[in-house]
Amino acid sequence: MYHVIAMPPAGVPFPDFAGQMRWLARHGYHAVTLHSVYEYWVAGAPLPRRAIVISFDDGYLSQHTKAFPVLQRLHWPGVLNLKVNAVQKYNLPFWRVRALADAGWEIDAHTITHPDLTTVDDRRLWQEVRGSRVAIRRMFHVPVDFFCYPSGRYDARVIDAVRRAGYLGATTTNYGPARPSNLYTLSRIRVSGSDGVAGFAGKMEGLPASPY
Ligand SMILES: [Zn+2]
Repeated sequence: MYHVIAMPPAGVPFPDFAGQMRWLARHGYHAVTLHSVYEYWVAGAPLPRRAIVISFDDGYLSQHTKAFPVLQRLHWPGVLNLKVNAVQKYNLPFWRVRALADAGWEIDAHTITHPDLTTVDDRRLWQEVRGSRVAIRRMFHVPVDFFCYPSGRYDARVIDAVRRAGYLGATTTNYGPARPSNLYTLSRIRVSGSDGVAGFAGKMEGLPASPY
Protein backbone atom coordinates (compact mmCIF):
# COMPACT_ATOMS: atom_id res chain seq x y z
CA MET A 1 0.00 0.00 0.00
CA TYR A 2 1.55 3.24 -1.19
CA HIS A 3 0.37 6.81 -0.94
CA VAL A 4 2.63 9.65 -2.15
CA ILE A 5 5.71 8.42 -3.98
CA ALA A 6 8.26 10.83 -2.55
CA MET A 7 11.73 11.75 -3.71
CA PRO A 8 14.36 9.93 -1.61
CA PRO A 9 15.90 11.80 1.32
CA ALA A 10 19.36 13.25 0.69
CA GLY A 11 22.05 10.60 0.91
CA VAL A 12 19.79 7.74 -0.16
CA PRO A 13 21.53 6.19 -3.19
CA PHE A 14 18.49 5.52 -5.35
CA PRO A 15 14.79 6.25 -5.21
CA ASP A 16 13.04 4.15 -2.60
CA PHE A 17 10.21 2.97 -4.79
CA ALA A 18 12.46 1.84 -7.64
CA GLY A 19 14.75 0.09 -5.16
CA GLN A 20 11.80 -1.61 -3.46
CA MET A 21 10.45 -2.88 -6.78
CA ARG A 22 13.91 -4.13 -7.76
CA TRP A 23 14.08 -5.93 -4.41
CA LEU A 24 10.77 -7.66 -5.19
CA ALA A 25 11.88 -8.66 -8.68
CA ARG A 26 15.21 -10.02 -7.40
CA HIS A 27 13.37 -12.08 -4.80
CA GLY A 28 11.08 -13.69 -7.35
CA TYR A 29 7.94 -11.61 -6.82
CA HIS A 30 5.58 -10.74 -9.67
CA ALA A 31 3.07 -7.91 -9.42
CA VAL A 32 -0.48 -8.73 -10.49
CA THR A 33 -3.86 -7.06 -10.22
CA LEU A 34 -6.21 -7.72 -7.33
CA HIS A 35 -8.62 -9.13 -9.88
CA SER A 36 -6.04 -11.79 -10.84
CA VAL A 37 -5.65 -12.75 -7.20
CA TYR A 38 -9.42 -12.95 -6.83
CA GLU A 39 -9.68 -15.23 -9.89
CA TYR A 40 -7.02 -17.44 -8.37
CA TRP A 41 -8.83 -17.59 -5.06
CA VAL A 42 -12.34 -18.29 -6.38
CA ALA A 43 -11.66 -20.16 -9.64
CA GLY A 44 -8.09 -21.44 -9.39
CA ALA A 45 -6.93 -19.27 -12.32
CA PRO A 46 -3.15 -19.39 -12.73
CA LEU A 47 -1.09 -16.90 -10.78
CA PRO A 48 2.69 -16.40 -10.84
CA ARG A 49 4.71 -17.51 -7.83
CA ARG A 50 5.05 -14.85 -5.16
CA ALA A 51 2.23 -12.79 -6.57
CA ILE A 52 1.97 -9.34 -5.06
CA VAL A 53 -0.45 -6.46 -5.57
CA ILE A 54 1.15 -3.01 -5.64
CA SER A 55 -1.66 -0.65 -4.63
CA PHE A 56 -1.74 3.13 -4.65
CA ASP A 57 -4.37 5.03 -2.70
CA ASP A 58 -6.26 8.25 -3.46
CA GLY A 59 -4.75 9.42 -6.78
CA TYR A 60 -1.57 11.47 -6.48
CA LEU A 61 0.39 12.95 -9.36
CA SER A 62 3.54 11.06 -8.32
CA GLN A 63 1.75 7.74 -8.72
CA HIS A 64 1.80 8.40 -12.46
CA THR A 65 5.00 10.44 -12.79
CA LYS A 66 7.18 8.36 -10.43
CA ALA A 67 5.69 4.92 -9.82
CA PHE A 68 4.29 4.19 -13.29
CA PRO A 69 7.65 4.33 -15.18
CA VAL A 70 9.25 2.00 -12.61
CA LEU A 71 6.45 -0.56 -12.94
CA GLN A 72 6.44 -0.20 -16.73
CA ARG A 73 10.10 -1.22 -16.89
CA LEU A 74 9.19 -4.40 -15.00
CA HIS A 75 6.03 -4.94 -17.10
CA TRP A 76 4.05 -4.95 -13.87
CA PRO A 77 0.56 -3.53 -13.40
CA GLY A 78 -0.35 -1.36 -10.43
CA VAL A 79 -3.71 -1.03 -8.71
CA LEU A 80 -5.02 2.49 -8.27
CA ASN A 81 -7.60 3.02 -5.52
CA LEU A 82 -9.01 6.19 -6.98
CA LYS A 83 -10.82 8.87 -5.03
CA VAL A 84 -13.10 10.35 -7.69
CA ASN A 85 -12.52 13.96 -6.69
CA ALA A 86 -8.76 13.48 -7.20
CA VAL A 87 -9.65 13.48 -10.91
CA GLN A 88 -12.26 16.22 -10.58
CA LYS A 89 -9.77 18.48 -8.76
CA TYR A 90 -6.94 17.61 -11.15
CA ASN A 91 -4.66 16.11 -8.49
CA LEU A 92 -4.38 13.22 -10.92
CA PRO A 93 -5.88 14.45 -14.19
CA PHE A 94 -8.09 12.31 -16.38
CA TRP A 95 -5.46 11.64 -19.05
CA ARG A 96 -3.01 10.33 -16.47
CA VAL A 97 -5.53 7.85 -15.05
CA ARG A 98 -6.44 6.93 -18.63
CA ALA A 99 -2.75 6.17 -19.32
CA LEU A 100 -2.56 3.92 -16.26
CA ALA A 101 -5.72 2.05 -17.22
CA ASP A 102 -4.50 1.68 -20.82
CA ALA A 103 -1.26 0.16 -19.52
CA GLY A 104 -3.17 -2.54 -17.65
CA TRP A 105 -3.48 -0.98 -14.23
CA GLU A 106 -6.60 -1.92 -12.31
CA ILE A 107 -8.65 1.11 -11.30
CA ASP A 108 -10.63 0.49 -8.12
CA ALA A 109 -12.96 2.74 -6.16
CA HIS A 110 -12.02 4.71 -3.05
CA THR A 111 -15.20 6.81 -2.75
CA ILE A 112 -15.78 10.28 -4.18
CA THR A 113 -14.73 12.57 -1.30
CA HIS A 114 -12.89 10.20 1.09
CA PRO A 115 -15.12 10.50 4.19
CA ASP A 116 -14.98 8.22 7.21
CA LEU A 117 -17.77 5.93 5.97
CA THR A 118 -18.65 4.74 9.48
CA THR A 119 -19.88 8.27 10.31
CA VAL A 120 -22.00 9.16 7.24
CA ASP A 121 -25.74 8.54 6.84
CA ASP A 122 -27.11 5.78 4.61
CA ARG A 123 -27.79 8.07 1.67
CA ARG A 124 -24.27 9.51 1.67
CA LEU A 125 -22.79 6.05 2.22
CA TRP A 126 -24.49 4.78 -0.92
CA GLN A 127 -23.45 7.84 -2.95
CA GLU A 128 -19.83 7.37 -1.95
CA VAL A 129 -19.70 3.58 -2.34
CA ARG A 130 -21.94 2.99 -5.35
CA GLY A 131 -21.53 6.47 -6.85
CA SER A 132 -17.74 6.15 -7.09
CA ARG A 133 -18.09 2.86 -8.96
CA VAL A 134 -20.56 4.37 -11.40
CA ALA A 135 -18.42 7.49 -11.92
CA ILE A 136 -15.17 5.60 -12.58
CA ARG A 137 -16.92 3.18 -14.93
CA ARG A 138 -18.36 6.12 -16.88
CA MET A 139 -15.05 7.97 -17.03
CA PHE A 140 -12.72 5.11 -17.88
CA HIS A 141 -14.87 2.18 -19.05
CA VAL A 142 -13.18 -0.25 -16.65
CA PRO A 143 -14.89 -2.83 -14.39
CA VAL A 144 -14.20 -1.29 -10.92
CA ASP A 145 -14.76 -4.55 -9.06
CA PHE A 146 -12.91 -3.72 -5.85
CA PHE A 147 -13.28 -1.06 -3.20
CA CYS A 148 -10.84 0.49 -0.73
CA TYR A 149 -12.13 1.93 2.57
CA PRO A 150 -10.99 5.55 3.11
CA SER A 151 -8.52 5.68 6.00
CA GLY A 152 -9.23 2.00 6.55
CA ARG A 153 -12.53 2.84 8.28
CA TYR A 154 -15.33 0.27 7.99
CA ASP A 155 -17.97 -1.51 10.01
CA ALA A 156 -20.73 -4.05 9.28
CA ARG A 157 -23.00 -1.42 7.70
CA VAL A 158 -20.23 -0.16 5.41
CA ILE A 159 -19.27 -3.70 4.35
CA ASP A 160 -22.92 -4.40 3.56
CA ALA A 161 -23.09 -1.34 1.29
CA VAL A 162 -19.89 -2.44 -0.49
CA ARG A 163 -21.37 -5.88 -1.12
CA ARG A 164 -24.69 -4.45 -2.33
CA ALA A 165 -22.88 -2.12 -4.72
CA GLY A 166 -21.55 -5.24 -6.43
CA TYR A 167 -17.91 -5.14 -5.45
CA LEU A 168 -16.14 -8.51 -5.30
CA GLY A 169 -13.91 -7.49 -2.41
CA ALA A 170 -12.44 -4.58 -0.49
CA THR A 171 -9.09 -3.55 0.96
CA THR A 172 -8.33 -2.12 4.37
CA THR A 173 -5.30 -0.71 6.17
CA ASN A 174 -5.15 -3.78 8.43
CA TYR A 175 -1.57 -5.03 8.37
CA GLY A 176 -0.68 -8.36 6.83
CA PRO A 177 -1.07 -10.59 3.78
CA ALA A 178 -4.51 -10.65 2.12
CA ARG A 179 -6.47 -13.86 2.58
CA PRO A 180 -9.48 -15.21 0.65
CA SER A 181 -11.37 -15.79 3.91
CA ASN A 182 -11.53 -11.99 4.29
CA LEU A 183 -12.59 -10.81 0.83
CA TYR A 184 -14.27 -7.65 2.15
CA THR A 185 -11.58 -6.85 4.72
CA LEU A 186 -8.37 -7.61 2.84
CA SER A 187 -5.19 -6.74 4.71
CA ARG A 188 -2.28 -4.90 3.15
CA ILE A 189 1.31 -3.98 3.98
CA ARG A 190 1.70 -0.23 4.41
CA VAL A 191 4.91 1.10 2.90
CA SER A 192 5.93 4.46 4.36
CA GLY A 193 8.19 7.12 2.88
CA SER A 194 10.81 6.44 5.54
CA ASP A 195 10.99 2.66 4.94
CA GLY A 196 13.76 2.71 2.34
CA VAL A 197 14.71 -0.59 0.77
CA ALA A 198 15.97 -2.15 4.00
CA GLY A 199 12.80 -1.32 5.92
CA PHE A 200 10.70 -2.59 3.04
CA ALA A 201 12.69 -5.83 2.83
CA GLY A 202 12.26 -6.29 6.58
CA LYS A 203 8.48 -5.98 6.24
CA MET A 204 8.37 -8.48 3.37
CA GLU A 205 10.64 -10.98 5.13
CA GLY A 206 8.59 -10.66 8.31
CA LEU A 207 5.47 -12.02 6.60
CA PRO A 208 4.36 -15.63 7.01
CA ALA A 209 6.06 -17.82 4.40
CA SER A 210 2.70 -18.70 2.89
CA PRO A 211 -0.55 -16.94 3.68
CA TYR A 212 -2.58 -20.13 3.13
ZN1 LIG B 1 -7.24 7.16 0.96
